[in-house]
Amino acid sequence: MAEVVVIGAGLSGTLMAYELLPQLRADDRLTVISQGATYHFVPSNPWVAIGWRKQSEIEIDLVAIMKRKKIRLLTQGAGRVHAAENRVELSDGTSVPYDYLVVATGPELAFDEIPGLGPQGHTQSICHVDHASRAKEAFETLAANPGPVVIGAVQGASCFGPAYEFLFILETELRRRKLRDRVPMTFVTSEPYVGHLGLDGVGDTKGLLESEMREKHIKWITNARVNGVEPGKMAVEELADDSTVRKTHELPFAYSMMLPAFRGVGAVRGIEKLTNPRGFVIVDKHQRNPTYPNVFAVGVCVAIAPVGATPVPVGVPKTGFMIESMVTATAMNIGALLRGKAPSAQPTWNAICLADFGDSGVAFLAQPQIPPRNVNWSSKGEWVHYAKVAFEKYFLRKIRRGESEPFYERFLLDKLNIAKVIQLKTGT
Ligand SMILES: Cc1cc2nc3c(=O)[nH]c(=O)nc-3n(C[C@H](O)[C@H](O)[C@H](O)COP(=O)(O)OP(=O)(O)OC[C@H]3O[C@@H](n4cnc5c(N)ncnc54)[C@H](O)[C@@H]3O)c2cc1C
Repeated sequence: MAEVVVIGAGLSGTLMAYELLPQLRADDRLTVISQGATYHFVPSNPWVAIGWRKQSEIEIDLVAIMKRKKIRLLTQGAGRVHAAENRVELSDGTSVPYDYLVVATGPELAFDEIPGLGPQGHTQSICHVDHASRAKEAFETLAANPGPVVIGAVQGASCFGPAYEFLFILETELRRRKLRDRVPMTFVTSEPYVGHLGLDGVGDTKGLLESEMREKHIKWITNARVNGVEPGKMAVEELADDSTVRKTHELPFAYSMMLPAFRGVGAVRGIEKLTNPRGFVIVDKHQRNPTYPNVFAVGVCVAIAPVGATPVPVGVPKTGFMIESMVTATAMNIGALLRGKAPSAQPTWNAICLADFGDSGVAFLAQPQIPPRNVNWSSKGEWVHYAKVAFEKYFLRKIRRGESEPFYERFLLDKLNIAKVIQLKTGT
């Protein structure tokens, strides 16, 4: 019998548990360690923040689902991984031993790296659904007293798509309420150019997003380093290509939402050779840590090198489909190890992304995620908004039913020639 443990029950952790089940042998036991019993669908947070969704509409109670699937759910959260001892210490001091561990803890939000940033300071956040609900209250205050809006992503951020998405849906909502004429908007980003997305662009994301901003009278500052935020005021330095300061800006705002930099969570940060200096889990091509080969990692908590040097540091995004490819490969590899075989599945890390603008949107497909690519495509249109709504419904249904990849999803991906894993042939 083997003890298989997953830490985290977000997008990657829940799917990880569902995909591991068919890989286990009859006596193996699967445990998920979560923080609380509620799953929430992070990609819908921007809609919560402007009132297009209620928090309760994107939350799912995992207790009954996990019980039905015979997965042990421990909701007190992991305090610390003791990798050398093959055990996870929970936040209540008890321990869970493991034969195989999958870290799926997502990011810790590094608001504290910039004075005044984040919900404890003076800017809003959409990274957690509780933040998004607070951001909705702040949005209503803005609607009652219109003024300048600053939206963007700070130095070291890796998640740019949601910043653009939020910018455009907020703009759409302001137009619908006939308030847009009283709200000057500025997009502030650490990216070297609009549409870089931490990926050096995908297809013509630069042209598509710049043109959308021009059409909607949104100003932008790229290569931006945020030095601090005070009530209603953001201090920003704009860097030149040689990283010298080209211009300083003091941006007044009545409402601001800035994506923070991410780092690894406290339960794994600072464990030598398990995590890198930012606390992200180091993995090989099989999603496995080279030093602790019974530890795997999936999702945003995985360490990925940036695509290249930029004047202001930017990270690589870890998007949903890419994460699903990590999950599938990890499940197959743990399944192989349980049967005495070597791991042979490699995730493709292909990125498919839909960024909704409310009445239109931008979609992109990057195969592989890091350039140069075999497929490098982006497109704009009203269909993206409807595709994103359909995706949300479909994904929440998957989580409720406890299915990771129903047959019709597999069929569609096969037809589109989009693979999640590369399966290598091994003799062992
Ligand atoms: C606002 C936003 C919008 C996004 N939109 C999209 C999108 O439209 N499309 C797309 O492809 N990608 C999108 N992404 C990127 C990515 O798909 C999501 O961030 C996704 O939720 C990442 O999954 P994850 O499992 O790595 O992290 P999460 O979903 O954040 O899950 C991590 C889980 O681990 C738990 N956890 C943390 N520490 C512990 C601990 N010590 N013990 C136990 N549990 C712990 C957390 O509570 C959380 O439930 C978006 C990201 C953000 C921030």
